[in-house]
Amino acid sequence: MISYDLECKNGHRFEGIFSDYSSFCAQRDKKMIQCPICDDSHIRQLFTGCSIQGKSSVKKTAGKEHPTVLESLKMIEQFVKDNFENVGKDFPDTARAIYYGMEKERNIYGETTREEIKDLVEEGIPVLPFPKNDKIEN
Ligand SMILES: [Zn+2]
Repeated sequence: MISYDLECKNGHRFEGIFSDYSSFCAQRDKKMIQCPICDDSHIRQLFTGCSIQGKSSVKKTAGKEHPTVLESLKMIEQFVKDNFENVGKDFPDTARAIYYGMEKERNIYGETTREEIKDLVEEGIPVLPFPKNDKIEN
């Protein structure tokens, strides 16, 4: 099972649980996913963005010599969680504030949308998106 952070056309954010990514896409395309607040079925997936703007070097994580792609992704996600500050839904505003010198330089991550990431990148702000795939443990 995979949980995704989702947002409806009216900006309500909620969590959806699916067996895998393709079942999420199929349900979304058939408009079977509805916002629990307003029943809107124009659903989009939220992404976790991370922004590397700190000058100080972060500690190296000990890893295997030949990790698989999935292991690498997990290492990156864990690395971000260990070394970056979670600013949650303030991610786009905070990334901008740091970039323009209104807040102290640091590495952050948080919730964002593909559109917000695109806007940040177009402004020249260093941002990396990665899909938020929280595996649910039984
Ligand atoms: Zn809604």
